[in-house]
Amino acid sequence: MSTVKSYAAKHADQPLGPFELIRRTPGPKDVEIEILYCGVCHSDIHMARNEWGGTIFPIVPGHEIVGKVISVGAEVSKHKVGDTVGVGCMVDSCGTCGSCAEDLEQFCENGMSGTYSSYLQDKKTITYGGYSTHIVVTEKFVLSVSDKLPIEGVAPLLCAGITTYSPLRHWNVKKGDKVAVVGLGGLGHMAVKLAAAMGAEVTMLSRSPEKAKDADSLGAHHFELTTDPENMKRLKGSYNLIIDTVSASHDYATYLNLLKTNGVMVLVGVPPTPEQIHATSLIFGRKSLAGSLIGGIKETQEMLDFCAEHNIVSDVEVIAMDEINEAYERTIAGDVRYRFVIDMASLKK
Ligand code: NAP
Ligand code: ZN
Repeated sequence: MSTVKSYAAKHADQPLGPFELIRRTPGPKDVEIEILYCGVCHSDIHMARNEWGGTIFPIVPGHEIVGKVISVGAEVSKHKVGDTVGVGCMVDSCGTCGSCAEDLEQFCENGMSGTYSSYLQDKKTITYGGYSTHIVVTEKFVLSVSDKLPIEGVAPLLCAGITTYSPLRHWNVKKGDKVAVVGLGGLGHMAVKLAAAMGAEVTMLSRSPEKAKDADSLGAHHFELTTDPENMKRLKGSYNLIIDTVSASHDYATYLNLLKTNGVMVLVGVPPTPEQIHATSLIFGRKSLAGSLIGGIKETQEMLDFCAEHNIVSDVEVIAMDEINEAYERTIAGDVRYRFVIDMASLKK
């Protein structure tokens, strides 16, 4: 076992601060990783502040991890010392249930092990995430990262990237499809880049007029302001697929109205409070309201390879570890273009 430096929240109403945690001695199937960069997902904030309930304190957030392999167990064949690798939102699953057999570990019927504030498969050992200098992960849950791309921009692909890639693939987005993305944040900007790379005609639906120019440079073909009721009326029946990334409470019916007949709206954003919708929002136009959770390990590797092929990374603002509390406030205020990523060298000093 080794003691490593990290940043943790000890209570929901306290800022994050330095914390020492114990990483296990790597076993035969384990990969030991020196973390170089870790993205800051809005889920880290929801969890550190216990906005969904069930957070295990102290919590060390961080599930957009990129680093270098520094040691491997005797039975590891997928990775070797010196490889650039990534770890996303999961660090293990049962490996035997129907979902795991279908490469859908995120829906493991025995409960997947989240990267932080969760339990390993022994259901006893608490997990601690990527706001730390090192992590030990079983080889199956360690992804290969291309050395072609700037790795600080790759880190957010491990959550924001796969969370938006997976529904685009599942609903079979192809050339010419009309896809709208709600909310231009960490997930939203990846959804725009990925949907555009798949050939869709992409519309950014945002409440922030100052983001219009950015949407264009990210690859969106249209930008529509959601705060303008005339706009929302005009856009009725426009889209085949809507990816909703909004982190705060909002009215789903307003967006369902923008779907074409048989259209699908996929929720990936997780506002802390439940929303209400009337059945008529779905009945007229035979619309579907769906949800999607990250993606399986096989699909995450496919997404990383797709991004390497298409030169896609996240637009990031690199921060030092001790700037994390300010970064949380700025993320909530929508003041990030478009993902904070922590340079872990700042924690090693
Ligand atoms: P983020 O960077 O904070 O982006 C959220 C965006 O939503 C904002 O940039 C803003 O875009 C919009 N927004 C925020 N508050 C709003 C409000 N009150 N009304 C309308 N729009 C608002 O967050 P993120 O990291 O992308 O995460 C987004 C959500 O996805 C979070 O709830 C997170 O927990 C969840 N998540 C889910 C999964 C999954 O597997 N399903 C994975 C990761 C994250 P505009 O300014 O453009 O309107
Ligand atoms: Zn995340």
